[in-house]
Amino acid sequence: MVDIRSVHKSFGSLEVLKGIDLSVRAGEVTVVLGPSGSGKSTLLRTINHLEKVDRGAISVDGVLVGYRRSGNRLYELPEREVLRRRTRIGFVFQNFNLFPHLTVLDNVIEAPVSALKRPRGEAVEAARRLLERVGLADKADAYPRQLSGGQQQRVAIARALALEPGLLLFDEPTSALDPELVGEVLDVIRDLALQGRTMIVVTHEIGFAREVADTVVFMDDGRIVEQGPPTEVLERPREERTRLFLSKVL
Ligand code: ADP
Ligand code: MG
Repeated sequence: MVDIRSVHKSFGSLEVLKGIDLSVRAGEVTVVLGPSGSGKSTLLRTINHLEKVDRGAISVDGVLVGYRRSGNRLYELPEREVLRRRTRIGFVFQNFNLFPHLTVLDNVIEAPVSALKRPRGEAVEAARRLLERVGLADKADAYPRQLSGGQQQRVAIARALALEPGLLLFDEPTSALDPELVGEVLDVIRDLALQGRTMIVVTHEIGFAREVADTVVFMDDGRIVEQGPPTEVLERPREERTRLFLSKVL
């Protein structure tokens, strides 16, 4: 479903991704761990067309990210097409990124109505079902500021799902939450995993990774240091850097 080949990315003279190779199969959950600054967010952003890669290639569902192929040649995508493709991938941010001036319901229907041109009534119906699924049916008319962080993040997940994406990306979805609110958000993400959603989750929640991940990837300094099933990477890491990191977060 996601195929990342030899991806390099620099910001000025700072090389942030130093040759990333990663494959994610449909229906699998990949958890990405790694210290701050190791390039995890940048990696997610390249998958979602939010950053261009300097070298290498990423394809999602067999389609190259950022490019269109014509015969043997590749052409950079126009911005409109980038935006359209971005709607096929759900992205959940650390800081929720809800529209503060819109109600919960309007946050969830915004993209389906404006980007996918869904009829409003249809979008509202779908949004209400999604809000029910994340346990917030009674908050449809509230504004983000009236909700707890955990509730806001669950709205953000409903909003991502409203685009019916084939792929979901989570960038430290619980890092901005008070500890007592982490569980309710992880529960929602776990449910999605059990439904067979394809997702890549950047998180420091090792317990969640152990329970939900099909593959755990450990990144450090712009590289994938090791990857494998959680029983290997978390219980019997081969690399010293992985061991050191795990001893700090556990
Ligand atoms: P992580 O998510 O693992 O903490 P990031 O991908 O956010 O790491 O960042 C990796 C490195 O790239 C950091 O040193 C960060 O400061 C730098 N970086 C990220 N985005 C930008 C940007 N837009 N411009 C310049 N440097 C950036
Ligand atoms: Mg990050």
